[in-house]
Amino acid sequence: MEMQHFDIAIIGAGPAGCSAALTLQDSALSVAVFEKSTFPRQKICGDGLCDRTINTLKAIKESYLEEFLAKHNPLCIKQTKLTYKGRSYLVDFKNFGYISKRVDFDNFLFSLVTRDCKNTTIFEQCTIQSATKDDQGFVLQDGEGNNYHAKIILVCNGASSKIARTLTNEKPNENMGVAVRAYYKNVQGIEANTMELHYKKEFFPGYLWIFPIADGTANVGFGCKTENPICESESYRDIMENWINNDEELRKRFSESERITPIQGGLIPYNNGTFSCVGDNFCICGDAAHLIDPISGGGIGSAMLSGRFAAQQAEICIKNGNCNKESLLDYEKNLRKRVEKEMTTRASIQKTISNHPWFLDILAFFGRQAWIFNKIKNWYL
Ligand SMILES: Cc1cc2nc3c(=O)[nH]c(=O)nc-3n(C[C@H](O)[C@H](O)[C@H](O)COP(=O)(O)OP(=O)(O)OC[C@H]3O[C@@H](n4cnc5c(N)ncnc54)[C@H](O)[C@@H]3O)c2cc1C
Repeated sequence: MEMQHFDIAIIGAGPAGCSAALTLQDSALSVAVFEKSTFPRQKICGDGLCDRTINTLKAIKESYLEEFLAKHNPLCIKQTKLTYKGRSYLVDFKNFGYISKRVDFDNFLFSLVTRDCKNTTIFEQCTIQSATKDDQGFVLQDGEGNNYHAKIILVCNGASSKIARTLTNEKPNENMGVAVRAYYKNVQGIEANTMELHYKKEFFPGYLWIFPIADGTANVGFGCKTENPICESESYRDIMENWINNDEELRKRFSESERITPIQGGLIPYNNGTFSCVGDNFCICGDAAHLIDPISGGGIGSAMLSGRFAAQQAEICIKNGNCNKESLLDYEKNLRKRVEKEMTTRASIQKTISNHPWFLDILAFFGRQAWIFNKIKNWYL
């Protein structure tokens, strides 16, 4: 088949890729989106949509948030309950967030792309196997051997992206976590509009979560860094189930519950305060660029923000006729301006507490004082 040419090719139609395509909807550029799955597709997740996710959706188009809320009626989260050593700390949400099954949220984003991005050709069930640099950009090859050319590629294909690793020469599994989750029904004691994070010293920054879903079920999961020696000897699934079964309060709350899906997992590429997102004719976004928050483990918001910023800069570069690394670097600069300070701070908190877990006891002790608690809580939200 003859090679198809595009200005911008987006690899992956998760939150990062869809945000990039939606950002380009009014541009005069030709865009291609390549997605290996068919929507609606499952994405293993805690389903927590934080304020960055919501704000980025609104920034792309104000009406998109209204549309999402009207269509999916997600559960609005007003507070987080942190539990450590049997004591709970209630934290009001600084802004707001929602819990929405990823199958719905991601399908919503993808449906906006199919509906609103008239300049975009969508290739579903199309896995990009390789990206080869040439003078004018990149040649992408899919699993069927078809070739596509683009002046700029936006690599948005998630935590296992081999393309991103190859382009940045990054070793796999650096700063990685793994998380597992399942849906349960009949979990007792779930408080209205409250998400729960349960901590144990040995798993920090990992935690066990219970996130209520609007349909009365709960998303229950556990995540932790891959370098944690306990997780090397026990599977994440076993740790999660043992935690529930061995904790007196949780055991009671789960005694009538039923797990309605298998326990499934995925990678968590934590950010460590460094960014390596651009090169000649390419930008890397979302999980592929290691943009997950080092404490909360949330990454949907920064995936969307990075997709948006990368698309904006790619459009400028193509208009200026210069797509080299130097010209694309403003994408990374804009992203840093928005997230670098918080990622760096949170990465160093992650490191400090992981190396000195007794810090959690100190935090928990001082956290009983209202004014200290108010300072500490900002780390989590
Ligand atoms: C168990 C778990 C719980 C989590 N909980 C939360 C949470 O509650 N809140 C939160 O904010 N974050 C959470 N995260 C993180 C969040 O899921 C990610 O940060 C987010 O999905 C990143 O979006 P993305 O678009 O970069 O990548 P993805 O969502 O992974 O999307 C990548 C897309 O690329 C496609 N793709 C992959 N390879 C190719 C290829 N070669 N060619 C074409 N297409 C390809 C995939 O099919 C996929 O659709 C969790 C992660 C895990 C594992």
